[in-house]
Amino acid sequence: MKKAKYCIRCGGKLEQKEINGKIRLICQKCGYIHYQNPIPTVDIIIEKDEGIVLIKRKNPPYGWALPGGFVDYGESLEEAVEREAKEETNLNIIDARQFHTYSDPKRDPRFHTVTTVFIGKGEGMMKPSDDAEKIKVLKKGEIPSNLAFDHKKILEDYLKKDFEKSR
Ligand SMILES: [Zn+2]
Repeated sequence: MKKAKYCIRCGGKLEQKEINGKIRLICQKCGYIHYQNPIPTVDIIIEKDEGIVLIKRKNPPYGWALPGGFVDYGESLEEAVEREAKEETNLNIIDARQFHTYSDPKRDPRFHTVTTVFIGKGEGMMKPSDDAEKIKVLKKGEIPSNLAFDHKKILEDYLKKDFEKSR
């Protein structure tokens, strides 16, 4: 995980120091404490009749992934998921509902993200964005081996839920 090096207030160098038992990044010049917080993201399981929509990532971490991305400042999770789905798959999301939240600090190799996963239906013509190499509909029950992030775990949880519902 990458750590910030410089103060956002004065540009001074940040140094690790222990405060109340926690390691913090503190500016050597002005004393500013650089708090690091997880970054909120959203992902969506888009259900089609034949299965669910996956995109192949053009940027690291590589592999197949659920459509999703970062929540913009001033945006709700619901708005973010609709926007990301539209950008990445061109589909309009209807009936989106929250599934689970995933917060393992190691779920994204770049930085600590907390993702809220939605389940919804996709309407319209499916096509990949510039960020995606390919797009496909995953057949029901199938899980590809090269999934990015913790999306394997998410899909397993989703399939388990489906299975429990059908019993
Ligand atoms: Zn500073």
